[in-house]
Amino acid sequence: MAVETKQELNPKTTHFEFSGPVGAFVLTFGLPLLVNVLCVCCTKEGCSLAPSHIIAQWKKTPFLTAEVYKVYLLWLAALALADLIVPGQIVDGTELRNGQRLKYKFNGTRVIAILGALLLSRGVATNWQLPELQFIYTNLTQLANASIVTSFAISTYLYISSFFGNKLLALGGNSHNVFYDFFMGRELNPRIGKLDLKLFLEMRPGLLLWVLIDLAMVHHQWLTYGRVSASIVLVTLFQGYYVIEGTFYEAGLVSMIDTTLDGLGFMLVFGDISLVPFTYSLQTRFLADNFVELSWLQIALITGVYLLGIAVFRLSNNEKNKFKQGKTNPGEYTYIETKTGSKLLTSGWWGMARHINYTGDWISSWAYSLPCGFNLVPYYYVVYFGVLLVHRESRDEAKCAAKYGETWTEYKRRVPYKFFPYLL
Ligand code: NDP
Repeated sequence: MAVETKQELNPKTTHFEFSGPVGAFVLTFGLPLLVNVLCVCCTKEGCSLAPSHIIAQWKKTPFLTAEVYKVYLLWLAALALADLIVPGQIVDGTELRNGQRLKYKFNGTRVIAILGALLLSRGVATNWQLPELQFIYTNLTQLANASIVTSFAISTYLYISSFFGNKLLALGGNSHNVFYDFFMGRELNPRIGKLDLKLFLEMRPGLLLWVLIDLAMVHHQWLTYGRVSASIVLVTLFQGYYVIEGTFYEAGLVSMIDTTLDGLGFMLVFGDISLVPFTYSLQTRFLADNFVELSWLQIALITGVYLLGIAVFRLSNNEKNKFKQGKTNPGEYTYIETKTGSKLLTSGWWGMARHINYTGDWISSWAYSLPCGFNLVPYYYVVYFGVLLVHRESRDEAKCAAKYGETWTEYKRRVPYKFFPYLL
């Protein structure tokens, strides 16, 4: 590869997303507020977003005590250590703009097995009255605030450290505007020693805490009512499966747009460690204190929605991964060859809609909220996730249009639907 100057390799960002620096500023302070509000809004009387209710809850809840922050930092440190020392599968990343290919270690299933064994042994030792899970229930808002404070701290470190050394910057995070670049992330793949911060934050502290929060809510319901509802069990199983199954396929992360395109800044850090665990668990938070009974028919219908969504999500993602790795049989699929050498599938799942995998993911999000019945706030996830995926689709569309040019236009002609075949 020809030697490029620093400026050629890291050009200044001129195209802005999220309405530019103003939007980035509003999101940097607005999203943490949303997380905090969603943490305090559910009580035994259901969930309410009325300002008077939220203010009353804030008055009762300390922002963050040293004890809770210590526990949160311990959680982060233990997972970082596990990431470093637990052996795993070594995978080559995609080729970067500077011609480099990073190596990644994926040990998610082993880390989950260790965590599961620890939890199980604590459960047996305490006769299933786990103080750790009760701690999570009691201090949920403080733990969320700990994650918010940590997101700001990590993002500040990342922003400052991106100016030192010969760093490869994200094309979208080098605008020279401090608020915008802080939010979008300047450096593409920051690492501390062997710890890849982006993949670590994306896969460990937030996703695993999401599952732990769900378990803490089930545990609390069991302690309170002496039994657990089918509704909370369903949500916990669905979300737990989504997270654990995701770690089986985590090697696929090397080609995700988060890894290849986005810088690591507040948007990803906060999304990974704060927004995901503390708002995606809103349904079990509601159900922990509100016992919702479901009939067998309702259980069957909700499970059907989940299975449909997860099947579309997993089968379509696997099909694309298999095709990209050249593991499909000749003639099995139709595709278009692009000038970069990559191929775009035009049959199978990817012949139905250009982001059929997002559709599957969104369908399963309904199964997380439906067990909450008619209380509207837990449906936040369906709305938020829908907005996230529509926005993500438009970013990916812009990336592919720039990368593949005419061929992408031809691909869109052959596969005209974005999400739902014959509809949208
Ligand atoms: P995709 O897995 O859809 O990857 C998009 C990329 O795939 C494109 O940029 C292009 O990359 C390639 N591609 C697009 N169309 C084709 C085709 N027809 N044939 C071959 N390659 C194609 O997107 P994401 O990385 O955004 O998402 C991965 C999964 O993660 C999704 O299922 C999504 O739902 C899920 N997700 C979940 C989130 C959550 O919070 N739960 C958040 C974000 C994502 P290339 O340049 O390589 O050609």
